Formats: sequence, C-alpha cells, structure tokens
Amino acid sequence: MTNAWDERKKALENEYFHKKEQEIIDKMKNDAEETLAHNYSKGRCPKCGEKIEPMTFRDVPLDRCPGCGGVWLGPNDLRILAEKDHRTWFDRWFHADNQETSDQEV
Ligand SMILES: [Zn+2]
Repeated sequence: MTNAWDERKKALENEYFHKKEQEIIDKMKNDAEETLAHNYSKGRCPKCGEKIEPMTFRDVPLDRCPGCGGVWLGPNDLRILAEKDHRTWFDRWFHADNQETSDQEV
C-alpha cells in the first residue's frame, strides 16, 4: 500500500518537475526564436529569407521581397496607407501589381 502511494507521489512529482522543465524549455525556445527571427528578419523576408528591397508605394516606404513577392508593412505604414485612401488603396495595390506600371509614376 505505502509503496503504491510512494510510487504515485513520485510520479506526480516527476510530472510536476517535467512540466516545469518543459515550461522553461518552451520559454527559452520562444526567446531564442524571437531573437533569431528578429536578427534574421533584419533586411530579410521573414517568409522565404530573401533579401527584401525597399520600395515606395503612395509615398509610404515599404519592404518588398523579390523572392516570394511579399510586401512587409509596419503598423504605421498600414495606418498611413489606410488613411490616405481608406477604400481603394488595396484595390489599387493589386491593380498596380498586375499592371506593373500605373502606380510607379504617382
Ligand atoms: Zn519572401
């Protein structure tokens, strides 16, 4: 009887410490990933790792990735764009993207 209880207690303790350990490992992993992502994404596309190219769209500086065609907006960039033309900028963006010309001269 006592042995079974001890075993159970031990198992619970192990479980507790295992969980704690896992939490610490997860936290370390997250921190490391964040740091890595932060360093890596400096001038790099977070999606494909290609070197991003600065560009200007409607007077807003953006980062565009030639690798996957992704465009990276900061929170301010998005706000500025949205304020500039809150209904159609997105349409125009895609329009410009397809036509490759129209918005370049604006
Ligand atoms: Zn990319």
